[in-house]
Amino acid sequence: MHQTLTAKLKLEVTAEQKEQLARTSLAYREALNYTSGVAYQMGKTYNGTKIQKEVYYTLREKFKLPSQMACNVPRQVGATYKSLRTKLKQNEEATASGRTKKRYKGLDKPPKYVSRTCTLNYQRDYSFVKDQKVSVVTLDGRIKVNYQGYSKHLEMIASGVAKIGAAKLWYSKPTKTYYLLVSMEVEVPELAPTDINRVLGVDVGQRYIAVAADTRNKTQFFSGKKVRHKASRYVKARKTLQRKGTRSATKKLVALSGRERRFIADTNHCIASQVVTPNSLIGLENLTHIRERTKPKKKGEKASAKQRRANSNKARWSFAELHSFIDYKAVLSGSLAMKVDAHYTSQACPCCGHTSKENRPNKGLTFVCQSCGYTLHADLVGARNIALRVLLSRQDWESTGRFSAVPGASSDEAKGERLSRYSQLRWTIDAISTLSETEPSGEV
Ligand SMILES: [Zn+2]
Repeated sequence: MHQTLTAKLKLEVTAEQKEQLARTSLAYREALNYTSGVAYQMGKTYNGTKIQKEVYYTLREKFKLPSQMACNVPRQVGATYKSLRTKLKQNEEATASGRTKKRYKGLDKPPKYVSRTCTLNYQRDYSFVKDQKVSVVTLDGRIKVNYQGYSKHLEMIASGVAKIGAAKLWYSKPTKTYYLLVSMEVEVPELAPTDINRVLGVDVGQRYIAVAADTRNKTQFFSGKKVRHKASRYVKARKTLQRKGTRSATKKLVALSGRERRFIADTNHCIASQVVTPNSLIGLENLTHIRERTKPKKKGEKASAKQRRANSNKARWSFAELHSFIDYKAVLSGSLAMKVDAHYTSQACPCCGHTSKENRPNKGLTFVCQSCGYTLHADLVGARNIALRVLLSRQDWESTGRFSAVPGASSDEAKGERLSRYSQLRWTIDAISTLSETEPSGEV
């Protein structure tokens, strides 16, 4: 099994090297925009080879690009046109079937490249050399640059376990720093059910961004209070700036949304690394209906002005991102993440299986089973039910030798059968769990 990942390496450049990288990446961007114009005139072609024949000498002579880069540019432009044409086609189909009335405008004029990036091929345009340096092609020849990064990634590069692919030179405007985004492929061993020694479920929601519970009664609560408060402040600030609408406000808005996105990503990373332990099988809810679930209740005309204000300032958390981080970290630590059906995970009693809305009296913080009296922190019920469902999948895995990661795409019949099996599940461990709250904000 392979896992692809991107190592983000911060380049520690001298003033002169910075100048060289700037000239190179700006020339590359200009070359992209020139080539985009040419491809447009060639009937919006996405054929990279055709485009290359047309522009290669100009890219070499006028833009002074090294030969390899002069080949990368037309290829990249071709890929852009291909994806835009796909979008256009999808739009035409949607228009024909009446699903939309909006016309796709992405190909009305040649697409323009705005960000300062540059694609580099491994061992042609860049390579790793001794003393933790990377050698990068510029318009003025090769330069050797020191770099820093996530220690696990540096280890993979140094040890040679990762298969290194193409990289992107990327410039962060707010920090005025150059990064090299290196895509790598690592081999991860195929897992057997017996490699798994911990089974847990992760539930996401409003009050707690995540609650994790394993079948040995270890629980982790990641409070959403502080982080949501901070995220909501971003939303409010964004609204104020949007209302202003001046040029400088727009500039601030771009910086702000970048900061907001990074804050959410940092928090998600932090939660994911605390949830994922080696050799675990981790259950995640199928998130298809999460939007409806986390949407504030009152909405539209019925909601009061105050309620509407409160709703609109509430930040939307990216749970899909959290899931993808958990999945990514799991694969790298000899674990597996899988999706389970989310149906009734918050209403079913983990102890006797009784499923009812009434199990949450007054929608309070406590789950009280109306059949057996089992009482539990309401936010823990979901995570435990998910853990139980994963445990079932682990047993299937062991008996059939086949691991199915997503239950989603099966028939209604299969789903009905699965739900009926779920209703037989029981949480039988009697130990009283000790609840500990963890603030995920430690590193952010
Ligand atoms: Zn019960």
